[in-house]
Amino acid sequence: MQKRKEHGENGMKEKRPDKERFVDLHVHTNFSDGTFSPKEVVAYAVKNKLAAIAITDHDCVDAVPLALQAAGPAGLEIVPGVELSAETGGVEIHIVGLVIDWKQAWFQKELTEIRLERLRRMEKMVAKLNENKVSISIEDVMRFSDTGRSVGRLHLARALLDKGYVRTIRDAFDKYIGNKAPCYVKRDIISPRKAIRMIRELNGISVLAHPGIMNHDELIPDLIRSGLDGIEVFHVDHQKKQAKHYNDLAETEGLLMSGGSDCHGDGKGYPLMGLVKVPYDFLEKIKEAGEKLKD
Ligand code: AMP
Ligand code: FE
Ligand code: FE
Ligand code: ZN
Repeated sequence: MQKRKEHGENGMKEKRPDKERFVDLHVHTNFSDGTFSPKEVVAYAVKNKLAAIAITDHDCVDAVPLALQAAGPAGLEIVPGVELSAETGGVEIHIVGLVIDWKQAWFQKELTEIRLERLRRMEKMVAKLNENKVSISIEDVMRFSDTGRSVGRLHLARALLDKGYVRTIRDAFDKYIGNKAPCYVKRDIISPRKAIRMIRELNGISVLAHPGIMNHDELIPDLIRSGLDGIEVFHVDHQKKQAKHYNDLAETEGLLMSGGSDCHGDGKGYPLMGLVKVPYDFLEKIKEAGEKLKD
């Protein structure tokens, strides 16, 4: 049924039982606000002895083919994914799509539109910062995006840090660009229903990202009615108690379980990959569910 082949350091094939294999189903690259290239992400995952990783850039799938290419020789499994931002009733909800048919042209077109809106919003944030006596330009921000693909607040935070306006990334969010800070500008974003539907169209599995950060459990029943398939139980910002809570919720609601580090390379200080232990079994079940959608 499942492949258990792995390449050891000497090129010999080794077998490790699934319960000793770990995955990371939430990883960013420099095609969104991570700092690692797809190749570097793969190398880091291999170094951390992960069996599989999902590439889940914000509103972008362009790192997927590059990661697949780099991972082949390394014997690492790549799960094609994406992280879509959605909003309902003023609450921002992140939906991760896993095992998606990422090549679909209509989806790439949708993502291009979303990324254009990201750029428009970034220009507005820069203008607002300028009004608040922060001398920063869109070029200063773009310098922190190697690919120019999915530009977001983490790039802006790094530019503010570089220019000396803040002492930490966290400061940048607290003082200027966090959801409640003075220079924050809301993006025009899709509804969670649309995000879930798009992922289903791609025969993918939709997963509620970091529900512990979202902190609006009351929205979960409606997400399930919209077709949500799974939920992140493990996340770098989930305390043990929260992981247990979302594990129980997944069991009661019949949701698939997922998890990952939400690694942004050095974007959030240091790489988080490998810090969250997600069993291979989670991925196995997600893949099985994804296969069933193709029937
Ligand atoms: P955006 O999608 O442009 O609104 O930016 C949201 C992204 O900024 C998130 O996905 C995180 O990567 C990052 N982010 C949001 N809040 C914080 C924070 N307080 N500290 C560090 N990074 C953050
Ligand atoms: Fe991010
Ligand atoms: Fe997120
Ligand atoms: Zn993320």
